[in-house]
Amino acid sequence: LLQLTMPLNFLGVLYREIRQSLTDLARLFDLLQQPLEVRDAPDARPLRVSGPPEVRFEDVHFAYERERVILRGVSFTIPAGRTVAVVGASGAGKSTLARLLFRFYDVGRPGDSAGAGRILIDGQDVRTLTLDSLRRAIGVVPQDTVLFNDTIEYNIRYGRPEADFDAVREAARAAHILAFIERLPQGWQTVVGERGLKLSGGEKQRVAIARTLLKDPPILILDEATSALDSVSERAIQGELRRLARNRTTLVIAHRLSTIVDADEIVVLEHGQVIERGTHAALLAAGGRYAQLWALQHSAAAAAEPVAAAAGDH
Ligand code: ATP
Repeated sequence: LLQLTMPLNFLGVLYREIRQSLTDLARLFDLLQQPLEVRDAPDARPLRVSGPPEVRFEDVHFAYERERVILRGVSFTIPAGRTVAVVGASGAGKSTLARLLFRFYDVGRPGDSAGAGRILIDGQDVRTLTLDSLRRAIGVVPQDTVLFNDTIEYNIRYGRPEADFDAVREAARAAHILAFIERLPQGWQTVVGERGLKLSGGEKQRVAIARTLLKDPPILILDEATSALDSVSERAIQGELRRLARNRTTLVIAHRLSTIVDADEIVVLEHGQVIERGTHAALLAAGGRYAQLWALQHSAAAAAEPVAAAAGDH
């Protein structure tokens, strides 16, 4: 999702910016002073980490458009190698946090980052880092992986193009998609994507997992599916995601709650602020917003999936 929406978002932003500036020459002048997109600071340095780093959101404020504030002082820390899941209603700003960490946008309002807080990786403000080093350190497993119209080998190797074939194969094995690939008549050379073999939601997720295993980033963003996977595949994929997250600093953007019960910490976002935080058990016991969301989702899940619910699946 991140990869796909980013250029579209950018075009949207660009279009709005241009339209506004044509009606406001003073603003146009402003715009010419401001880079329209995030780019390296003149003195940008490469990110330095040894092992999975600590990731800290510190009083982060953000708006895509000046008049509509999305985040209002969000703070939380993902300790090195741990997993923090962010939950909240649709539109609460969960994916926005991931976009800021990946630096598709900078904290603050367009053109104004004063007092907007910061995002630190092992103490290094992401705005001071080269984009290349930042993005190389972060793996993203999105909700809906977009495959290239190319071979399945290319699609997995994309995680680290210089990897040798044994490493590509090993990543596929670890993501439990190797047997599937080797059974295909054209094997690794099978063309997938829109104009090739259509993979199922679960197979696409496994390609994304293999790609990320190959990339081997110290930081991971899991943008969790609201997905249409059946519960057997869903549970298998969950297991693989959990293994992928092991020994990486992981931010989970949770659109459903059943998948994050074992996160080290859950952060509940509402109206751009953190309103609760804690483990699954502590938040349930507290009987607040999280407990409410959990109950809501359970009644929905029970209605949609009576068999799994009756078997005590969730
Ligand atoms: P969901 O669970 O539905 O994916 P979310 O909590 O991840 O929601 P975000 O995607 O972070 O929500 O969006 C937060 C708010 O920001 C939404 O109201 C959304 O409409 C708005 N928003 C997202 N992207 C942009 C953009 N490029 N320009 C303007 N507004 C945006």
